Amino acid sequence: MDCQTAEGMVSRYIKHDLPLNELEEFLDHVQNCSSCYDELETYFIVHEVTHQLDDDSSDSVLDFKKLLEQDIRKSRRYIRKKKVSWLMFGVSICLLIATIAAILIFVMMETNYIL
Ligand SMILES: [Zn+2]
Repeated sequence: MDCQTAEGMVSRYIKHDLPLNELEEFLDHVQNCSSCYDELETYFIVHEVTHQLDDDSSDSVLDFKKLLEQDIRKSRRYIRKKKVSWLMFGVSICLLIATIAAILIFVMMETNYIL
C-alpha cells in the first residue's frame, strides 16, 4: 500500500469503517510509515477532541497518543479474532464434509453399491 492510499483511509479508520483486509493493510502501513502515522494521529486527535466536547464528560482522556495506540491494539485484536473465527468456520466445514462423506460411504457399502 502506498502513502496516498493509506492517507485516503485515515478518516474511515477513525470511524471504524474499514473492511478487515483493508484495515490490516492500513495498520501494516501506518505502523511502518511515520508520516502516515502522524497523519492518522492528527485526525485521531481532532476526532477525539470534538467527540469529547460533544460528550461533555469530566473524565476526558487527554493523552491522545496513548489513546491512539490503544485503538490500534484493539484493531489488531479485532483482526486476530476475526481470523480465528474464519479458521474455525473452515475447520467445521471440512469436518462436516468429512462426516457426510463417511456416512455416504457407509450407506453405499451397506447397500452394496461398492464391492
Ligand atoms: Zn505512508
